[in-house]
Amino acid sequence: MKLPPSFKPLSSEPRILKCFACGSENESPINAITLLCLHCGRPVDLSDYEVDTFHSRSIQTYGEVYVGVRGKYHGSKLVAGRLIVHGTLDAPYEAHEMVLGKVAHLTSYGSQHSLHVLSGSRIKLQQVITAREAFISGFLETIGGLRITGTIVIRKGATLIGKVEAHAIKVEKGGRYEGQIVIEGHASLLKDDANTKNNR
Ligand SMILES: [Zn+2]
Repeated sequence: MKLPPSFKPLSSEPRILKCFACGSENESPINAITLLCLHCGRPVDLSDYEVDTFHSRSIQTYGEVYVGVRGKYHGSKLVAGRLIVHGTLDAPYEAHEMVLGKVAHLTSYGSQHSLHVLSGSRIKLQQVITAREAFISGFLETIGGLRITGTIVIRKGATLIGKVEAHAIKVEKGGRYEGQIVIEGHASLLKDDANTKNNR
């Protein structure tokens, strides 16, 4: 699975992981491949999954879940450290990093710390997406809107269409933004955005 080099391995630093069964916090050592909850003894899943067909069994892991173009996850809430969706996610989700590519299709709500839209993707989202930060490298049309408490970065060659609320927005040269925008804080960054629009 190829991701841009800005993505780090998920297990590169010690982390505090909540047990999916009892909710207790466990410290996970660097590069751990399995972890047993110190409180209830149940395994805390750190493994990676690939969903390439119809999949209805529940996945809750701190590892990576990859949903391919022909994959469809249709189960209870999907929990992942990193969730990469090129196909269909037909369930609520919770991910630290949410990565959307190709023709990703989301039918439900979810939560994420960071949102990434990969280059070469063409994505339309109906629901409101809330995240700490967003990196747009492909085409994203948001009907519900994006609510980003930190910064949105629109990279070269990327397009973002729709309502956006953010603390700051950074539009790289060659990036495109169309829609309503509400910026809290950095007025100067909003001006940069206006310049980019005029130059395109
Ligand atoms: Zn536990």
